[in-house]
Amino acid sequence: VKLFSSIGRTHLDGHKDLTNNGTIINLSKDYPDAVKNVYFPTMAPNGKLITILVNPGDEVKVGTKIGERTDFNVPVYSSVSGKVLEQEVIYSAQVGRAINHVVIENDNKYECAEPFKTITKDSSNEDIFNAIINAGMVGMGGAGFPTYIKYNQPKDIDTILVNGVECEPYITSDYVTTQTNVDILLKTIDLLVKYSGANQGIIAIKEHKIAQKQAIEAKISEYPNIKLVEVGDFYPMGWERTLIKEVLNRTYANLPAQAHVILNNIQTVIGLGKALFEGKPVTERIVTVSGNGLNMSFNILCPIGTLNSELVNVCGGYVDGDIDLLPGGPMCGKAINNDKFPVVMQQGALTVLKHVTYHQDACLRCGRCTEHCPANLQPVELKNAFDRKDFDRLEKLSLMSCVGCGMCSYVCPSHIELTDNINKAKLVYKLKKK
Ligand code: SF4
Ligand code: SF4
Repeated sequence: VKLFSSIGRTHLDGHKDLTNNGTIINLSKDYPDAVKNVYFPTMAPNGKLITILVNPGDEVKVGTKIGERTDFNVPVYSSVSGKVLEQEVIYSAQVGRAINHVVIENDNKYECAEPFKTITKDSSNEDIFNAIINAGMVGMGGAGFPTYIKYNQPKDIDTILVNGVECEPYITSDYVTTQTNVDILLKTIDLLVKYSGANQGIIAIKEHKIAQKQAIEAKISEYPNIKLVEVGDFYPMGWERTLIKEVLNRTYANLPAQAHVILNNIQTVIGLGKALFEGKPVTERIVTVSGNGLNMSFNILCPIGTLNSELVNVCGGYVDGDIDLLPGGPMCGKAINNDKFPVVMQQGALTVLKHVTYHQDACLRCGRCTEHCPANLQPVELKNAFDRKDFDRLEKLSLMSCVGCGMCSYVCPSHIELTDNINKAKLVYKLKKK
């Protein structure tokens, strides 16, 4: 698999200086009116239903279990204390359409439910696994994959690789969260290394991230089985295949476990640690709200379920003119036209950019999209096959191996919407396969 060519190691302008200056707005304290209600989708990102365990009129606390996915053992916890209201249909950025949401009226008291049973040095592996399930974690780096599945009877694992690379432009949520959570981060990696039978933990961060590096280096010597590795500032260095190749020089067919690795996003590990050692589920997260389409950019700590429109208000609203609203970063995020959707555990960013209209030219057959694709696909061929609705050809071209990184569109000199078309092709292909 060709993961790197010199041309494939593309440095992007990060724009991270907009938010990596240390300012974090604590929404529930600094702007309590912005969190009057919180919203929880009744559907998982894959469209499977979530069983809802509360009814209108019920009183809940921070950490009350309000639902559970029907396809995986992933509980959902309330992020505020208050009263459950009637469900409302609002947009879900993960599902891609308007769906029912549980609504909880925030009493602004943030009373907490009984904490979970925490892990001790006497906890068995079964206790630890049950606690991982109970934490309700999904990958906080954007993928939203249930975390417990990676830790279900791990075999032949030698490395827990913690991804703090955050290679998408504009996003600094991992960067700032790491700096104030190094103790719990290291303690949790140590536990996961021992639990998995691995012999090392590695934290990967991007080069030149001085504050993040210093915060980790100040404590890491207490854990001889954990090391810090800096990787180059290239996109998409944070993609799991790229990172495992870069850090460990290993490749694999389908899953990182085939390369003897369990890989987790850095905030996922911190969140998991808080559940395991402090008995608290993740009920808030930092979202980087940034871009030249906003009057100001900030990192905002907010309860899960806060409406993104409230985050935009805190940033002084939109600039005049047309904007592109992207839940996530500019490379992987898909533009939507509605900001009334809730923050979910895996949403690390809201990027708002001034809209730029490009004239789409004919393909020059320059091959740049293919050369830059980290999954070694032929993006222009995928788009052409989708235009012809040739699903046999799409399958032969390994359509579903596309990770939606956005590189092909980014490098195309003819401004052809390759990624958008390939994403649409994946949706149609999945529907046809059902
Ligand atoms: S979006 Fe898909 S096809 Fe395009 S470069 Fe990324 S992985 Fe390759
Ligand atoms: S980068 Fe654009 S112009 Fe070049 S081959 Fe791909 S689609 Fe064609």
